[in-house]
This record gives sequence, C-alpha cells and structure tokens, in this order.
Amino acid sequence: MQDYGNSPVPGQMMRRPLLITSLLHHADRHCGAREIVSRCDDGSLHRYTWSGCHSRAKAMAGALSKLGVCMGDRVATLAWNGHRHLELYYAISGIGAVIHTINPRLHAEQLAFMINDADDAYLFFDRSFAAIVQAIAQHCPGVKGFVLLGDEAELAGLDGIPRLMAYEALLQAQDGDFAWPVFDEDAACGLCYTSGTTGLPKGVLYSHRSTILHAYASVAPDALGLSSRDVIMPVVPMFHVNAWGLPYAAALVGAKLVLPGPAMDGASLFELCEREGVTFSAGVPTIWLGLVNHLREKKLVFSTLARTVIGGSACPPALMDSLGEEHGIEVIHAFGMTEISPIATVCRLQPEHQSLPPREQDAIRRTQGRVLYGVDMKIVDDEGKEQPWDGISRGHLMVRGQWVVEAYFRQALGEALQDGWFPTGDVATIRPDGFMHIADRSKDLIKSGGEWIGSIDLENIAMAHPGVQQAACIGVFHPKWEERPVLVVVRRPGAEVGKAELLEHFVGKVARWWTPDDVLFVDSLPLGPTGKILKNRLREQFRDALTQP
Ligand code: AMP
Repeated sequence: MQDYGNSPVPGQMMRRPLLITSLLHHADRHCGAREIVSRCDDGSLHRYTWSGCHSRAKAMAGALSKLGVCMGDRVATLAWNGHRHLELYYAISGIGAVIHTINPRLHAEQLAFMINDADDAYLFFDRSFAAIVQAIAQHCPGVKGFVLLGDEAELAGLDGIPRLMAYEALLQAQDGDFAWPVFDEDAACGLCYTSGTTGLPKGVLYSHRSTILHAYASVAPDALGLSSRDVIMPVVPMFHVNAWGLPYAAALVGAKLVLPGPAMDGASLFELCEREGVTFSAGVPTIWLGLVNHLREKKLVFSTLARTVIGGSACPPALMDSLGEEHGIEVIHAFGMTEISPIATVCRLQPEHQSLPPREQDAIRRTQGRVLYGVDMKIVDDEGKEQPWDGISRGHLMVRGQWVVEAYFRQALGEALQDGWFPTGDVATIRPDGFMHIADRSKDLIKSGGEWIGSIDLENIAMAHPGVQQAACIGVFHPKWEERPVLVVVRRPGAEVGKAELLEHFVGKVARWWTPDDVLFVDSLPLGPTGKILKNRLREQFRDALTQP
C-alpha cells in the first residue's frame, strides 16, 4: 500500500467513475419494466420501458462508433422531447462523445453559428425540423452526416440535405451487445448554448460528474422530491438545459417518464397528463399560463398532477395561486441557469415556516428558495463586497458549486468566474433563513432618479389583475428621471381593463414612485427561444413611449 507519510490516510472505498450510462444501467436493471411514453410527430404514442430504452441506446452507441464518432466529438440534436432523443442522451454521452442539444427556435444563422462553433460531427433531427436542416445544411460543411429521427421510408421528399441517413436504419444495422466504455468522470458529456439574447450564444460544457451530482441533488425531498412512484413529464424541452436534468433524474429514481413531443399546446398536454397519470411536471411560466387558460375556458381540472416545478423566469404569484387553488397542484419555484446545469435553488418550506400565518408562507413560496447542497451563493455590491442576508439588501447574485460553469466552451478554465464565483447577472436579496429572491436580471432593473425599481414585482402585481393575461415591465427613457417603468400588457380574452383601472390596482401595493408611468396594450409579447419575454425587444420598440406625444 502507498505510504502517505504525515498526510491523511485516503479512504478505501471503491472508486467507480460517475458516468451517465450508470443511470440507464441502474434503471434497466432495477426498474426495467417501468414505462417511457412519448408523443410522436403524428400524434400517436410510442411506449416502451427503461430496459427497451437501454438496449436501443446501446445499439445507437454501436452505430455512432461505426460512424467514427470518438471520445470528445460533438454530436448535435434538433429534437423535441421524445424516446429517440432520450436514447441519444445516453448513447452519445455513453461513448464519451458530447451531445449538443440545439434550440430549434433560434434563427438559422444562430443555429449554423452554433453547429460550426461546436464543430458538430453529426446532426440528428426530428422530421418537423427538416425545413431548418434544409436551410442550414450547406452552411455547416463540417457535419459528416444528417440523421433523421425516423425510418428509411420517411427520408422521401427530404431534398437538399446531403449525407442523409435514417436513425432506425442505423439501429437495424447493429448486431451484438454493445459494452459501455469506462472513462474519467470529468469527461465532457453535454453542450448547451446560452440563448444569446445579447451577443453571440456561449457554449456550456457539462461533465459526467457534474451531471450525476446534479441528478443526485435534484431528486432529494427538499429539492424536486422525486421517487419511483412519480410519473414525470418534462414540458421543458430537452434542448433547454437538458430538460432541467429530468431525463437523468427519472432514470436515477426509476420513475415512469412521459415525453410530450411537439404537441405543447394546453389541450394536448392536459390530455397526455390525464391519460398517463402524470404526477410531476416542469416548465417555464408561459407554458403554464397557456395551460391554465385552456383549463379555465374548458372547465377542466387535473386529477393526478400533484407537483410542478416552475422556473426559467419568475413565476407570477397569480399563476401559483391558480394552480394551487383551482387544481391542488403544489408549485415548486426554482431558480437556475444554463451555466448551473441548471438548478441552483428550490423553494420548499422549512419546519420553522410551518407555524407562520398563511400570508407569510405564501410570501416565502414566491421566493426562489434555498440552495441545494452542492451549490453556494452570495450577493455582492458593485465593488464586490458581500451584502447581508436580511431580506432587504440587494446585490449581484454569485454562485459556485460542483455543477456550476468554470469557463465557457473553448475558454481557459476560470475565465467565467470572479474570485472563484460565477456572476449570474441577476440581482437578488437573501432572507436570514437563506431563501433567495430574484429582484431582476441586472439588465432589466429600471433606474429612476438614481434609485432602482425591480420589474418583476411590478409585473406580478399587474398579473394579479383579473383582466391581465401577461405583463412585462420595462425601463423607458425619461428626460428628468433617466428611466421610468412602463407596463406592456396583454389583456385576457374578453377583458376590457384600461390604463386608469390598472394603475389604480397598484395603489397601496408599492411605493408611489414605483407605479408605472404608462400602460401599453398589445396583442402578444415577443418570446425568446426558451419561452421567456424578450425585454430588449420591447425596450427597442417602446423606447420613445414617454417622450413622444
Ligand atoms: P437560462 O440560462 O436561459 O435558463 O436563463 C437563466 C436566467 O433565467 C437566470 O439568470 C434568471 O435571470 C432567469 N431565471 C431562471 N429561473 C428564474 C426564476 N425562478 N425567477 C426569476 N428568474 C429566473
């Protein structure tokens, strides 16, 4: 045995690398019969089990190896939440290559930029994204092959895509059992680009180790609280930070998984939830707003859905209340980022909160919650000085941890950090009990007369008005105050609420100088590729709102 001299004696436990394939192996071996149900492009449902998924993922891993995909190579996907995409999650990472999940809602130039920047060796795509692939294929000369997620017959009519193959044909050409290779847990497994609302998108490269640790932490009772008894339906797309890690977490706990495919409208999601007995879901607020409106209109109530995680942007309290009161669904508010794999904080009440009056408990539920073990956070002022956790002092939110980015793709390690912490670009307060509240993206804060106004609080008040479907608050140039808040509102169908009534609704809820200077009514708000409101677009559109008559 090695002599460690005066240094501590090392532990003597097995050293088995934390590899993503171990999740699938576990799900197959111990919960192999549990179902995975996916909605296909044509609306039909595909059913198989974790065992079925494992054997097809192994066959795909063999096919990828035959295509010449090696350790570290990037392989891109343009796909909805479906069973073939899930197989690729495991097959690509399982051979030591890197799955690059691409958001199909980006512009063609951005897509081509990302594919070339990542140097993707192959691109796998759903039939519904064929037109995108036809448009970008010639601008991506480095891609050795384009693989349709379907069978050979479906290739008919896909003109203009060179080096085209069918997924099922690749699988059929495989024989024999593929043995997963074992390698270093620090190897890269996945690549996601930030949405690039300002500047070019930046790549975030996850490792096997960071992904497994994130999965372990996310299933814990005070986090998402997942178990084998859950039926998990990620509405958040598998191209938005790995569907918040749910394809890994579901395998870890051996839960039934329901993948909604391209049908993301309220009626289809509700129908799938009810038919498959979904107990747990996750998505950005805009998806839930659409769903709740549909349910209200059709007078429908969920019967099995018990919990849903809402994150990606602040969950409006009105939405939380309606899911809770009308459907008995517990909303779990969570905060994360592409750079944090994505989950950093989750809001679950603590024992000391149980005796608080309901209004105070509600106020806590509206925060973004406490950090998971594995992540630490702090808030700092402009000079980097740490701010107190008093629930009042605001600061720039900084995080660090085992699944937090250290450098963007192709940058030197440490490059994304400040003194070892990752600056999130958000401004937050932290309560003495460690519950964090996002006041705003720092870029969205409104500077009025030298003081800051948080746009999220104003939006939440507006959204609590029964006539408001969606609201965004932006800072607009003002000759005296520098900026003043202006509210941009989409009315609920049939509602006739006007400016005066809406401004009256703010009285007593915020300081008078926080009240918006104007209310502009629009038919819809511009949404980014992950379903978040594009405030920079609104700021451009309405920049003269307070200076022009
Ligand atoms: P993305 O990397 O595209 O997921 O965006 C991350 C950003 O989304 C964060 O920096 C926050 O500004 C915002 N965000 C995520 N979750 C929340 C939340 N629960 N409340 C408020 N903002 C959020």
